[in-house]
Amino acid sequence: MRLTVLGSGTVSPSATRTSASYWVESGGVRLLIDCGAGTLHRMATFGVDWFGTTHIALSHFHADHWGELPAFLFAQRWGADTPRTGKLSLFGPRGLKPRIQALAQAFGQWILSPGFPIEIVEIEPLERHELGPGTFLECHRTRHTDESVAYSITDNDGRMVYTGDTGPSDDLAIWARGCDLLLSECSLPDDRAIDTHLTPAQAGRLARTADAGRLVLTHFYPPVEAVDPVARAAAEFEREVIAASDGDIFVIDGKR
Ligand SMILES: [Zn+2]
Ligand SMILES: [Zn+2]
Repeated sequence: MRLTVLGSGTVSPSATRTSASYWVESGGVRLLIDCGAGTLHRMATFGVDWFGTTHIALSHFHADHWGELPAFLFAQRWGADTPRTGKLSLFGPRGLKPRIQALAQAFGQWILSPGFPIEIVEIEPLERHELGPGTFLECHRTRHTDESVAYSITDNDGRMVYTGDTGPSDDLAIWARGCDLLLSECSLPDDRAIDTHLTPAQAGRLARTADAGRLVLTHFYPPVEAVDPVARAAAEFEREVIAASDGDIFVIDGKR
């Protein structure tokens, strides 16, 4: 399994970090997780097979996590030399379907019938969706918005967990237990902690409780970058801690 960080930022404009967006390759699966502003152009910059996207998974409905979805769908229809024909499956938390209907109201009915089969799935905790042979997607509710979820992707190589946006949560840590890579939001410095986001120390504690193989920090608002988030997280978690940059690639190969 291979993770490419497309966007390690937030809604804050940044010259180096676009909004939330991650690309996971596993077997024949090409999964886009979140689709914030900048996703399409980052896909081109980093040379991922955007036209071959098989699945999308949205963590919640804040604009920096799915604001570029209409443009992404438009690109699948008009952005390549020939229109797409293969099916696209779109996963998201409860409330996804009415929101896609609303997008169709705003942008046109092609959103619902873009010229290729589109499947819309409101994913629930405890469900296990096989995206391709041996590659599974699961979710867990998070403490951020009413609908927000974290995602787990498992294949024969191992397991990665993406927190989406969340607050501190032992439940989430227990659910993530034993993952090879924890991709954790790290929004705010420790002295500005709130219930609905994580600080570096909280991300480190989450990784420790989850017994993660390594911790990749992402989703940085500018103030958290001023406090050396890796050092703060590493004080709580003894294994490898990395601050993601746009374009970083992580391979999950089962070696811990
Ligand atoms: Zn966010
Ligand atoms: Zn959010």
